[in-house]
Amino acid sequence: MPRPILATIHSGALRHNLERVRQAVPDAKLWAVIKANAYGHGIERAFDALRGADGFALLDLAEAERLRQLGWRGPILLIEGAFEARDLELCSRLGLWHVVHCDEQIDWLAAHKTQVGHRVFLKMNSGMNRLGFAPGRYRSAWARLNALPQVDEISFISHFSDADGPRGIGHQLQVFHEATRDLPGERSLCNSAATLALAKDAQVRCDWVRPGIVLYGSAPDYPQHTDQDWALEPAMTLSTRVIGVQHLQAGDALGYGSTFTAEGPMTVGVVACGYADGYPRSCGTGTPVLVNGQRTRVLGRISMDMLNVDLTPVEGAGMGSEVTLWGRASTGQRLSIDEVARAGGTLGYELMCALALRVPVIAD
Ligand SMILES: *Cc1c(COP(=O)(O)O)cnc(C)c1O
Repeated sequence: MPRPILATIHSGALRHNLERVRQAVPDAKLWAVIKANAYGHGIERAFDALRGADGFALLDLAEAERLRQLGWRGPILLIEGAFEARDLELCSRLGLWHVVHCDEQIDWLAAHKTQVGHRVFLKMNSGMNRLGFAPGRYRSAWARLNALPQVDEISFISHFSDADGPRGIGHQLQVFHEATRDLPGERSLCNSAATLALAKDAQVRCDWVRPGIVLYGSAPDYPQHTDQDWALEPAMTLSTRVIGVQHLQAGDALGYGSTFTAEGPMTVGVVACGYADGYPRSCGTGTPVLVNGQRTRVLGRISMDMLNVDLTPVEGAGMGSEVTLWGRASTGQRLSIDEVARAGGTLGYELMCALALRVPVIAD
């Protein structure tokens, strides 16, 4: 029998979450963001469930190629654009739309020999200071692109740093619209958090939204809202089984570093999942977990291949019991990836993307 750990990707949940985004912004076009192997869910599986999107956004050229091989003929946007000049050959050949965020990328385009006009998204650094042209340099970058025979159409894009936080998007929104005023072309600003919470305003929504995390069923602004508040369905379940049982007495220590000590008699389940499977080592004692669909907690340190859970409160649990690290138990109970992530001081994003290669993945 193989080691019992398994990730299950719920195609129905992906479709449901896409539909939720559609309802939130019915008159915007929608990029499904599937970078990082669809946030760990697998490009192929995600593509199958999300082909109702208007386009796919990602950054890895090999992932764009896979998407074309799967038969997607609609828009694909490279959200970081070309990494070197010859990447533009692939853009021409596969008809990829690409972001232009710096002068070098314009130089490469100007030197690029092609028969097909490129669709480019000119990126503005509206305050996040990651990628993009500063507002004061934006128009000259646009003018340069606009003069190139290689460029067919120019659209405008920027990214919010605080769509899910107290600072908000007002300052960036103002900078973006001011600097693009009168420029003809489509616009795109919203990530998941902005799409769900702020995109009622047409100035925010623009022509294209770029939801990522929400498609996978995690709340972009947790703990302000939960996945259930946004009516999302978890798209990934990580499950395994109890492979050993220990009975502790008061004073017995558990695991590396003896960080947990029993205060009275208790039953501990040793579970086939560790940090080498992508379960964060920072999710120690107290992190929620489901055993046979019932909530209990992690105990002690996470090891490479195993972790411990408290079986004391779970009636009938023992060897072979189902353990749900996040997602949905076979009995239907849910454990949100956001809640688990928070217990480990991180985000649902990181947990999904960190799912290890050694974990078998199936789709349901
Ligand atoms: C990752 C990314 C998104 C999607 O962000 P979510 O928070 O997952 O919705 C949108 N736009 C850009 C440029 C990104 O890098």
